[in-house]
Amino acid sequence: MLAMLIMMPIQAQLMTSFTAEPKFHDPEVKYSKKSTSFQLMTDNDAQEVMLNIYDTATGGTPVKSESMAKYCTSPIINDKSMLWCTIIYEDLKGKFYTFNVKKDGRWLGETQGVRAMAVGINGQRGAIIDMKDTNPKRWNKDRSPVIAHKDLVIYEMHHRDYSIDPSGGFTYPGKYLALTERNGIDHLKKLGVNAVHILPSYDYASVDETRLNEPQYNWGYDPVNYWVPEGSYSTDPNDPVARIQEFKRMVQALHKAGIKVILDVVFNHTFDIDNSAFQRTRPGYYYRKNADGTYSNGSGCGNETASEQIRMCDYIIDCCKYWVKEYHIDGFRFDLMGIHDIKTMNRLRKELPDVLIYGEGWSAGNCALPQSMLAMKANISQMPGIAAFSDEMRDGLRGPWDGDDKAAFLGGVKGNEESVKFGIAGAIQHPQVDMTRVNYSKAAWATQPTQMIAYVSCHDDMCLVDRLRASVKGITQDELIRLDLLAQTAVMTSQGIPFMLSGEEMLRDKKGVHNSYNSPDSVNHLDWNNLKRYPQVMEYYRDLIALRKAHPAFRLGDADLVRHHLEFLPTQDCVVAYRLKGHAGGDMWQDIYVVLNANRQSRTITVPDGNYTIVCRDDQIRNIGLDTFSGTTVNVPAQSALIFHN
Ligand code: CA
Repeated sequence: MLAMLIMMPIQAQLMTSFTAEPKFHDPEVKYSKKSTSFQLMTDNDAQEVMLNIYDTATGGTPVKSESMAKYCTSPIINDKSMLWCTIIYEDLKGKFYTFNVKKDGRWLGETQGVRAMAVGINGQRGAIIDMKDTNPKRWNKDRSPVIAHKDLVIYEMHHRDYSIDPSGGFTYPGKYLALTERNGIDHLKKLGVNAVHILPSYDYASVDETRLNEPQYNWGYDPVNYWVPEGSYSTDPNDPVARIQEFKRMVQALHKAGIKVILDVVFNHTFDIDNSAFQRTRPGYYYRKNADGTYSNGSGCGNETASEQIRMCDYIIDCCKYWVKEYHIDGFRFDLMGIHDIKTMNRLRKELPDVLIYGEGWSAGNCALPQSMLAMKANISQMPGIAAFSDEMRDGLRGPWDGDDKAAFLGGVKGNEESVKFGIAGAIQHPQVDMTRVNYSKAAWATQPTQMIAYVSCHDDMCLVDRLRASVKGITQDELIRLDLLAQTAVMTSQGIPFMLSGEEMLRDKKGVHNSYNSPDSVNHLDWNNLKRYPQVMEYYRDLIALRKAHPAFRLGDADLVRHHLEFLPTQDCVVAYRLKGHAGGDMWQDIYVVLNANRQSRTITVPDGNYTIVCRDDQIRNIGLDTFSGTTVNVPAQSALIFHN
């Protein structure tokens, strides 16, 4: 695109003061002991921008107010952006700031800006800090563990769920620092997961950081400041440095344990429109509108952002790059990724080539952009290296999303076998998966198996235990555990990237609550005593994950290899059986057989005549073998997985 930089008349002092020219992608605040420079991007017809400096994060009156200078218009044709700048030659460390933009003759209201990198309590004002003060000791030595995407095992967690209950014995319950504590880290290491996906941890609105002594809970899908960690998970939200430093300490501790850190990002909507920083800097620009001029609501949360606008696209990409650079984040899970446009996601993939990118390949309502342009699951083949959740596999196992009492494969409902097979193959085209009988999708949508996230439960909807109780008629405790283990065996032996909800390994329940986004701790917390109550569950999960990690056959990472090595055996009702043949992926085992039997009775499977070693049966997994058999048939116990090899 033709680029032309039009320099606007500005104060001579300003021209000479910047050591480097402010750029549209730059931070809004650059601090040094000698001076602090500020910049803000607005529409090019904005009339004035005021900068206010405060002593406090809330209340009081400005100790200084300055009218900012127009610096330049956008070099991009048709981009009606304007950059405003000012420098204050004082040491402003510890102060707070807001901007106020005048447009069409009215002031839009004070805002912390859209790229605040430090904020005061509840994120209402930006904070001026020296980012160097936020780095923990040896932060420059922090390195992400090197793990290929195909080898990841993702653990989805919420800070408060994980550590709030006294049974966990945490010094910092509900805080970032819980994940620096030995009990918090050791559990993850023992389980064997190598990536944590933390629910929204940027600054969000729904927990009042001034009232943390009162019970409050939220998942945090209501973003306010995308570039700053949430304050309620820090030990002191009044201190703008604390949340940043503690977040980094968490990342550092996880990395040291060999665990990658994935951030749940919610760029698709904001908490509200009217008071959002987006709206107060460029009204109407960052949100999509319907043809009639009303705001579109593809998020189901009252608005949807417009990634097709160049500065919104920049915003998403700059923000992700910032989290990678400043916080050493290893991946992003995009909430309602289907609201963003394909071009934006592909640009992100290109600009951050190493990080894991996956998301929900759907929206929560109609978007004001054609489906063909959106980062929907059906369009994943146009986004190489980007993954989406497989609701085909999830619902093929547990039952459909529109009814908690409806069962599927796990509940012994026949007809879901092809959906489970689709998930086992990693959502790629496979000659033995009959797409006419797969739920939701009538075509394989992944080009590579690593473009599919394999899962049976996540924070949304009922957790696995609750769903099994709600959908499987007359389920006994023994059956509950058997089906729970069977479900995760399907997930952990899938060629997709396996993903589990935190606490499933300790048979977590949420008291049957379907949407626990603001439920009390008593619903959402992990009860660590469950590890003692159901030790076999944790042991099975641990051994199952270890089995996956020990055997490349389960994570081939390439569609052609999967089609070559993965062969399904004849399907019976509520039985999915397959083999990974010919030392798949260089596996030490020649042919690995996996049989998933969801029936309330045992089933017999026919195999080629041979001598076999059983490594998984009932609730036990042992890599060196549990038992052996010879011949052409084997019995698969009810509601469980059988894995063996020759
Ligand atoms: Ca907050």
